[in-house]
Amino acid sequence: MEWCRELPKIELHAHLNGSVRDSTLLELAKDLGEKGVIAFADVVHVIMKNGRSLPECFKLFDLYHLLTTDHQTVTRITKEVIEDFAAENVVYLELRTTPKKNEAKGMTKCSYMKAVIDGIRAVDTVDVDFDTSGTSDVNCSEATPLNCIGSPINRKKIYVRLLLSIDRRETTAAAMETVNLAIDLKNFGVVGIDLSGNPVIGEWQTFLPALKHAKELGLPITLHCGEVPNHKEIQAMLDICPQRIGHACFLVEEEWKRVKFLKIPVEICLTSNIRTERFSSIYDHFFADLYKANHQVALCTDDSGLFSTTLSNEFYLAASTFGLNKNEMFLLARSAIQSTFADEEVKHELTKIFEDAENRLI
Ligand code: 5GP
Repeated sequence: MEWCRELPKIELHAHLNGSVRDSTLLELAKDLGEKGVIAFADVVHVIMKNGRSLPECFKLFDLYHLLTTDHQTVTRITKEVIEDFAAENVVYLELRTTPKKNEAKGMTKCSYMKAVIDGIRAVDTVDVDFDTSGTSDVNCSEATPLNCIGSPINRKKIYVRLLLSIDRRETTAAAMETVNLAIDLKNFGVVGIDLSGNPVIGEWQTFLPALKHAKELGLPITLHCGEVPNHKEIQAMLDICPQRIGHACFLVEEEWKRVKFLKIPVEICLTSNIRTERFSSIYDHFFADLYKANHQVALCTDDSGLFSTTLSNEFYLAASTFGLNKNEMFLLARSAIQSTFADEEVKHELTKIFEDAENRLI
């Protein structure tokens, strides 16, 4: 396990609100309990419960959002989540989050994202490289683009990029707003769009215009695909050739053939898939099949807080379940560089990080 922690890693599928520390959630719940907003005693066991079905997870997200929805808290959790990933030697993190409106808190999707960006800026225990290719300001904010934050000497460094998520509960107009915001924030580290949220809610046709718009504007897309056996939707998702897909638990042979033919990288979240009972045993997981077929995969955490996992743990789980040796683990970690939505310069920097680590670790 210690070796898995030392291994440099790339995280491509992590939801901000699903990655919040339990201790922070409890502190926030206590605070809201004291203010009489929630009944603390009722939520403690919900937060601490181990093993949840998928519908239970989505109920819990509503609670998370109740706890985290103000600008200051969004900034705090972003900072903590980045520090936690960096502590696991994640060298590149593509963090995804759903921009939220909350009139009661004076929050717009744009001000929510400004709070996220402030959280990235607030990280002080490691150096953060947060893309800033331009000089324009975010319309809704006074934020200035960030570059490498912190001292350059002898400190851990993590590249952080953002994906904006469309929630399946949203309307076409709301989804479009998220895509337009992502375009506005391209100089603030936003590199793509995700579609997530409860997979039994919402119609594909609702999100399609916004996803097409993103594609037309050159913004890469990753989709939560095949979390439930909705084959009409899986086909439609593959029709738009997303740059990546996540989960893919219920794809059937014909659908896998298309994924392989189209060379779509797959974000694999082993613990999440097992905890939410998508597979009765980890040995039935499709990881082994894709790995043997040399198909591009990336091990990911999904919701490290919700599922009490880390990316080091996901690597350990893959190695111990599927019998991968250190060299194979190293190559698996490094191969995820190709699937990032980062620019070529960052990919080059990441390649150098892995070259340096190779002598030390193999
Ligand atoms: P947020 O976007 O609020 O930062 O992160 C939490 C949100 O991510 C959830 O409300 C949900 O929309 C999405 N999410 C987290 N985990 C999963 C998952 O396993 N499947 C799907 N479909 N969505 C998820």
